[in-house]
Amino acid sequence: TVYSFGGTDASIDPRAKDKTITGGKGANLAEMAEIGLPVPPGFTITTEECVKYLAGGSDFSDQLRADVASALRQVEAAVGKDFGSKDDPLLVSVRSGARVSMPGMMDTVLNLGLNDDTVAGLAATSGDERFAWDSYRRFIQMYSDVVLGVDHGLFEEALEIAKEDKGFYADTEMEAEDWKVLVAQYKNIVEQERGQPFPLDVHEQLWGAIAAVFDSWDADRAKVYRRLNDIPSDWGTAVNVQAMVFGNMGDTSATGVAFTRNPATGEKAYYGEYLINAQGEDVVAGIRTPQYLTRDAREAAGAKPLSMEEAMPDAYAELAQVFDLLERHYRDMQDIEFTVQQGKLWMLQTRSGKRTARAALKMAVEMVGEGLIDEREAVLRIDPMALDQLLHPRLDPDAPRTVLTTGLPASPGAASGKIVLDADTAEQFAARGEKVILVRVETSPEDIHGMHAAQGILTARGGMTSHAAVVARGMGRPCVSGASQVSIEMGARTLRIGTTELREGDLITLDGAKGQVMEGLVATIEPELVGDFGTLMEWADRHRRMRVRTNAETPDDCRMARQFGAEGIGLCRTEHMFFDAGRISAVRQMILAEDEKGRRKALAKLLPEQRDDFRQIFEVMVGLPCTIRLLDPPLHEFLPTADADFADLADVTGLGVDHLKRRAAELHEFNPMLGHRGCRLGITYPEIYEMQARAIFEAACEVAQASGEAPVPEIMVPLVATRRELAILKTLIDRMAQEVFTDKGRSIEYLVGTMIELPRAALMAGEIAQEALFFSFGTNDLTQTTLGVSRDDSARFLAPYVEKGIFARDPFVSLDIEGVGQLVRMASERGRETKPDIKLGICGEHGGDPASIAFCEEVGLDYVSASPYRVPIARLAAAQASL
Ligand code: ADP
Ligand code: MG
Ligand code: MG
Repeated sequence: TVYSFGGTDASIDPRAKDKTITGGKGANLAEMAEIGLPVPPGFTITTEECVKYLAGGSDFSDQLRADVASALRQVEAAVGKDFGSKDDPLLVSVRSGARVSMPGMMDTVLNLGLNDDTVAGLAATSGDERFAWDSYRRFIQMYSDVVLGVDHGLFEEALEIAKEDKGFYADTEMEAEDWKVLVAQYKNIVEQERGQPFPLDVHEQLWGAIAAVFDSWDADRAKVYRRLNDIPSDWGTAVNVQAMVFGNMGDTSATGVAFTRNPATGEKAYYGEYLINAQGEDVVAGIRTPQYLTRDAREAAGAKPLSMEEAMPDAYAELAQVFDLLERHYRDMQDIEFTVQQGKLWMLQTRSGKRTARAALKMAVEMVGEGLIDEREAVLRIDPMALDQLLHPRLDPDAPRTVLTTGLPASPGAASGKIVLDADTAEQFAARGEKVILVRVETSPEDIHGMHAAQGILTARGGMTSHAAVVARGMGRPCVSGASQVSIEMGARTLRIGTTELREGDLITLDGAKGQVMEGLVATIEPELVGDFGTLMEWADRHRRMRVRTNAETPDDCRMARQFGAEGIGLCRTEHMFFDAGRISAVRQMILAEDEKGRRKALAKLLPEQRDDFRQIFEVMVGLPCTIRLLDPPLHEFLPTADADFADLADVTGLGVDHLKRRAAELHEFNPMLGHRGCRLGITYPEIYEMQARAIFEAACEVAQASGEAPVPEIMVPLVATRRELAILKTLIDRMAQEVFTDKGRSIEYLVGTMIELPRAALMAGEIAQEALFFSFGTNDLTQTTLGVSRDDSARFLAPYVEKGIFARDPFVSLDIEGVGQLVRMASERGRETKPDIKLGICGEHGGDPASIAFCEEVGLDYVSASPYRVPIARLAAAQASL
């Protein structure tokens, strides 16, 4: 199927405005045409046709051929030119457009329909021979690159040589005759590379380009992008065929890209770049340095070349009107492509613009103020994961630094890392856990995996809308682009910035908000959670039903989490406290002890330390619920391995090293994850849990005494599979409570509950609920045990599993809702049947994942718990889930 837009018939089929059918670009072109904006006429081949084509062995149906022919006739009629005519030829662009924008993934061919005959027609009708041949050489280069797979470097080289021969500096100095010579050379290049002449038949050109767009859906770089962005591979891309308009018809013509607001800061000011006498790709490709759109921006930058506002006031005024109209129509910031042909403005694209998290917040808050959207919509508009960008440290303004050079502030944020000069190296370094900054002359879609692996990106060429800038903003990576003082020596793998010589592997720091490149590591500071961020979070909190707690076990983490808005602790893992350098020896003495007496002796040393840990946490979390999990990991994990550790232990215990080693060997486990851990420790060595429970109650009483406000510990027994386990341990905990309360002469409120992290516990949740006042879904272990997949060993096969579509996403990152989710749902229902007011929460990694949070809302959990940095993400995601 094919849908037309912008022709003499102004009516638009509703399906033509549906992104799932005509792709983002096509749908918005149709919509712009419908609201009366100047859009060059064209038509869109649907995404469905792409899927059919790819499934059907790359063949076009007769129906499609007929549809395209008739749509093309409509364009000819609207423009009054004929495709392939030697007198007055219609030229078209062939553009891809998937449902969601995939920057740089799919390639566009401009000026299609030129050949040795039609170029003469174009020269005659435009009265500009130079323009006609310039267009022709652009077309051959682009078509050969995109459709025929000829390396574009070959053409660029030929052009460089031609300019050098002439002593020219800029492309604009080339004259008609020069382009003619170059076109002949280009054709030779194609014939040499392909063994076949460049196709001169315009219909062959058209269908070749359509096929290339369809095929590009399955290109490797598109696949990588889809994998990184969770885009299903069966969507396909649409193809847009559109009459050309020319920004390269002299000094009253131009092309540009613009945002209706600043996509980096969110400021309400038109923002963009344009180039006089140029065609679309020139701006993005960073071949010439683009000029500012507005006079304010030009003056602020202290730049000389006139802004569009100054150079083309009429076209600019019209453009500004279009900006406002589009913002009101789409009620969002728009990212726009336009061309001015001899003073007349044409719109070539609009879409909701990508933005940094900070800009997204500012725009959402301001648009509520402007009455463009309401609070609810503002909350729904922010991608919770994008908040991550704001929650991380930025450069300490007072930290000393040596600025090596300043480029364009293409994507904000601070990043330090080792210099790497290509994408593959970036990936290799990152795989070893090293932080890297990818430094390139400019980036292209082939670099995406390296950009993803890097902490930040630095390019020598390209503007604020270059590939590097757009992709970095989308990924939330800091980026400095167009740092023209940077010169790269690929051979030596070195880098010169001004007079400083750097090598691959040397440390640099980027400040993407300022465009600065600094030597070495520069100190960072914690983010502030005020202003627009605070406003939006307040709105989110107003719309949220679930509570948000945090997973934290140190007072520092607790404080940070409270600042981030945590409403309690969902998971305090006590074993982290056991690993502390000062205590591990006592822990080992306890584990390696021969009998209960030996264990109790070692535990007595740990008691005051644990009590102190809990007291500090309770002090920070005063007034808020704190779920504390009793010791969980396999004892195995605490065993000494180094000889020195055994020697130390022998010293303190008076036992021989050999004896201790034998005892350690006895405790060795084959499968510790399913071994002597969790409540099994409490059942076999009750004195461990007694010590912990005592420490908790004593600390709580002390804090209640001191502050007048009692914390509410929620004591959580891990890895329960049966009701009886919990019953035994609950009795133990209650007994300790009574002992402490009698001792201290006061009592505090507390709850005893369990983690649901074994399938049997989920199945038996109705019975287990008899003993529990709360359930917390430990979805990390529940995922491991339900899938029978060890998280720590899954790295090798999980990625291919995701690639092959066996799992949509890594089930340890985003809950397997279909499978593991059933257990969560069932356990919640059964638990509530037994005890209607049982508290339900989730404390796995999934508690900070928006998709999993949406599921928790659906099941009706009372709270989610996430790591401190993820708390704001969880607050927003929880609000979105209840809206
Ligand atoms: P991308 O998705 O990479 O931006 P586009 O299809 O939007 O690809 O086009 C690439 C460039 O070509 C853009 O600058 C666009 O404005 C320009 N362009 C596309 N179609 C036309 C046309 N019909 N006339 C003039 N310029 C065009
Ligand atoms: Mg492109
Ligand atoms: Mg575009």
